[in-house]
Amino acid sequence: MQSALDISTRKIRLLSSLELEEVQTVVCEIINDICSPKAIAVLMWDEDLEHFDNKFFFGPQKSDITKLADVFAEDEPSGLDRKIFEVDTDDLGVTLANGLEPVFCYQVVKDGRLSACIIIAGSDGESPESILADLEQYPFGTALYHSWEFKELQLENERLRSQYEDMEHQTRSRVEQMEDQTRNLIRDLTSRDHLRTRQVDRERLVYWISNAVRSSVHIQEVLDMTVEKIGTTIGVSRCLLLRAVDSSDRLVVFEWHQQNTESVKHLFHSDEGFEFTKAALSTPSPQDLVEPELDNQGKYSKEFLAKFGIRSGLIVPLVLRDKVLGVMFLQDCVQPRDWTIDDVSMIGSLADNLSVAIENADLHQERERQAVTDGLTGVANRRSFNETFTREFERARRYGETLSLVLIDLDFLKKINDTYGHQAGDEAIKTIGRLLRESSRSIDSAARYGGEEFCLLLPNTEIDMAEQLADRLRRLINEEPIEGPGRISASLGVACYPMHADNEETLFQRADEALYAAKQAGRNQVKISSPAPDGFDLKHGADAAKETKALETNGENQKSNGENPQNPSKESTMLDVK
Ligand code: GH3
Ligand code: MG
Repeated sequence: MQSALDISTRKIRLLSSLELEEVQTVVCEIINDICSPKAIAVLMWDEDLEHFDNKFFFGPQKSDITKLADVFAEDEPSGLDRKIFEVDTDDLGVTLANGLEPVFCYQVVKDGRLSACIIIAGSDGESPESILADLEQYPFGTALYHSWEFKELQLENERLRSQYEDMEHQTRSRVEQMEDQTRNLIRDLTSRDHLRTRQVDRERLVYWISNAVRSSVHIQEVLDMTVEKIGTTIGVSRCLLLRAVDSSDRLVVFEWHQQNTESVKHLFHSDEGFEFTKAALSTPSPQDLVEPELDNQGKYSKEFLAKFGIRSGLIVPLVLRDKVLGVMFLQDCVQPRDWTIDDVSMIGSLADNLSVAIENADLHQERERQAVTDGLTGVANRRSFNETFTREFERARRYGETLSLVLIDLDFLKKINDTYGHQAGDEAIKTIGRLLRESSRSIDSAARYGGEEFCLLLPNTEIDMAEQLADRLRRLINEEPIEGPGRISASLGVACYPMHADNEETLFQRADEALYAAKQAGRNQVKISSPAPDGFDLKHGADAAKETKALETNGENQKSNGENPQNPSKESTMLDVK
């Protein structure tokens, strides 16, 4: 018999328990106290799914009623009109172990709805009614229902938590995925941006060079700037341009190098450098030199290449109409470079532009040379001489220096032409031109002034020295054998600033008068002008020269007849040096 205190204590325990398993344990312990069964099974009824769920077993023979519980749970629950009833195990087709009979089913109800079925097997011979009377004292329905709900809530919670965790996991992985995508996108954009910037830089460079090529004739400047721009745009340690100067064996080297890299320009002005350049110029297609071999074709001297300290190099020839005008030599001393097709083709197209620029500059230079050079003799022409004369005269005046002028005229050219033909006459003229070129000093300027008349301008030269130089030239001309006439001769007139004139025209006239005097005196000789007398009217002198010219023209026939026209006014100003 249970005491009221026991009942209250159990009720409190029952109602204060929250976990389903704990409640089920308390329920079973109470039933155990009421009727000491061998085994108890609590089958919770899931109203939503309409089947028994969560089987809980209790008692010493609990394992013996699992089969019974399973089969019982398969059946439809019986109506709620019987709170407790005996289970017909035969009917269920279950054979129970000894001592487990009778089996009662107590239906726990909460608010008129089935909450659980408790199977009580092998109770102590008490009648179901008395057991029920005891059981009814306890709020099993409430306790089981709440703990069931609590468990459901816990399950729901767990489900929600795992759902939340799933979502969180998915969100996290999606965020990570998005972060990855964003990172890739940024990397893509950055590298595309980098490529675009590089492309723009390169286009700018090509544009700059083609512009410079078109607009500038100062090829040295263009090439100087070009090596710098290519070097910085491609990002190499050094950019060199080796230019073979066509008319000579001269090699011009343009170089740009990084500040922390030393210049190697001087290395090319050596035998090895010359050999290297020769080999490079004989290669019409680009060639890359990459570590470890650097030059796997064995074209270049390894010792020479080693002097640059490079890790990779690129040699691009400047070719125009099958002619190699020079080579670009890019050097990277920091890393072995894999020269991209882009690099090579861009440098190739720059090289093409440069080739055109070099050819244009060469043509321009040649045209300029032709414009100031006499075609037959190779000395300066009249126009160029006039410019030089004006310049040198100004200089001499400004610095108070002397300036001597020698006029040279081939003797009897008409006769040579008539006797040996015009070609022999040309040969004679050419010979004088050559001797003038060969014998004049670097400061002197020789020119063909007219058909057979030459000038020699001698800066900073006193009259005595000018006279010596003129006479030496006369002898050279006279000693040079010429096919046809055998020997030729020339007459020379010399005048000196400031001794004979104080302006350019007068100086020329004085020299011309002296030349005329040399002709008069029998040719093949040098005459120098006499000093201008004090108070000499240079204007008068100029007029006198004009007069002389007129006389010369008049005396043309006499000259060709070998007669010397007399010109007393001239004669009086000449001194015979012979
Ligand atoms: P002189 O000794 O007085 O200077 O006599 P010359 O015959 O040399 O001088 P002249 O002024 O009488 O004749 C100059 C001749 O030179 C006339 C012209 O046909 C000839 N001549 C001028 N230029 C050339 C040229 O480029 N080639 C040749 N072969 N003859 C020329
Ligand atoms: Mg002559």
